[in-house]
Amino acid sequence: MDHFEYRDGQLWCEGVNLDDLLDSVGTPAYVYSRRTFEDHYDRLAQAFAELDPLICYSIKSCGNVNICKLLANRGAGMDVVSGGELYRAQQAGVPMAKAVYAGVGKTDQEIRQAIDAKIGWFNIESEAEFENIAAIAKRMDAKANAALRVNPDVDPKTHAKTTTGKKETKFGVDIERAHRFFEAYGKDPHLKLNAIHLHIGSPVYSPQPYVEAIRKALDMIAKLRDKGYEINTLDIGGGFGADYESGQTPPFADYAKQIVPLLKPFKEQGGGVILEPGRSVAANAGVLLTRVQYIKTGGSKKFVIIDSGMHHLIRPTLYDSFHFIWPTRVAPMHQPPQGQRSEKIDLPGLETCDVVGPICESGDYLAKGRALPPVTRGQALAVFSAGAYGMVMASHYNAYPKPPEVLIEGKKATVIRRRETYEDLVEPELHPQPV
Ligand SMILES: *Cc1c(COP(=O)(O)O)cnc(C)c1O
Repeated sequence: MDHFEYRDGQLWCEGVNLDDLLDSVGTPAYVYSRRTFEDHYDRLAQAFAELDPLICYSIKSCGNVNICKLLANRGAGMDVVSGGELYRAQQAGVPMAKAVYAGVGKTDQEIRQAIDAKIGWFNIESEAEFENIAAIAKRMDAKANAALRVNPDVDPKTHAKTTTGKKETKFGVDIERAHRFFEAYGKDPHLKLNAIHLHIGSPVYSPQPYVEAIRKALDMIAKLRDKGYEINTLDIGGGFGADYESGQTPPFADYAKQIVPLLKPFKEQGGGVILEPGRSVAANAGVLLTRVQYIKTGGSKKFVIIDSGMHHLIRPTLYDSFHFIWPTRVAPMHQPPQGQRSEKIDLPGLETCDVVGPICESGDYLAKGRALPPVTRGQALAVFSAGAYGMVMASHYNAYPKPPEVLIEGKKATVIRRRETYEDLVEPELHPQPV
């Protein structure tokens, strides 16, 4: 469910006609729907209400400070994975007690930054990391909480590059090792190991892998408690799916139906539950708008060459992921039936195309072999479900300034990140300094 829809052959976001918007902001541009962000957040909170979870929005999915503020105003905490994201969370006014800090490679400087900020939890990925954070906390005469990231060895059935909960990944430690971890570090006075963290991968299109992982974690927690370790929090991570294709993802309520009963006893015994959603909140809340520059045929292939590409949305080439692409303005016969977004769309007069960008890489494509209505030079296209892992992964490769980000709120449109300029590209290079 989102607030991008075709009316009379034109694409609207909430109360704004996107073709009209482009007259003022130009292309390429990321456009976000505030109502969609808030609806997703609220639905998730409602679905899991019985657990009264702390919802730590994953900043890495879509980190614009203005978006983080919207969610923080709804009560969200934040899941950060770097000092830069921690800074973003602070800029958005998120109380640091509601922040978790994950990531396998935290530097000493980032650790001090997080201790100074009084971060809610460090999510710990290895013994070496625990020892380092504990030593830094001791030197700073500070106390911090730690959640051990446990790798429950379940297969989330997602892309290899986004699978994180199987045995052989760089993330977390397996269950046997987790018991030894507590024996070694469970009584540290400065870094209190009192929580367990899971994050099995993403996107995970069914509740089942969560059920398996949570069962294993709860069993482990019971055993650790028997040994006298206090564990008061279970963070079940993120990874709920998004509708890249219509109807692809179960509603939050379906995940909750399986997960909530499992965690209720833990909650009733005073345990706290943390969720770390990113994609499921952000993906369908954003589109990338681009214009057709040229049409080119090569052999039997038709290429639609656009003014955006892998430098703005790398997911298709990095993860083989599908993004529905459709013109912002179409003949009535080419309006997607019931707003359906899918790879195989059944309408007359479509043409099979590759949608490619201007970057000097053959991996620079947003779609391959995709059926599209006939398009012409200058026409605007919308790349859907681009709110998560879109702009945050954009690069300057080939010296393209990054696109602006625009937030739609009803009939109002606000540029929440300006379009970068050529000056922005070279500015950090203008003052060479001897070292
Ligand atoms: C990326 C990440 C998330 C968010 O994943 P989504 O699929 O966007 O929900 C949550 N927790 C951790 C530790 C992550 O690395």
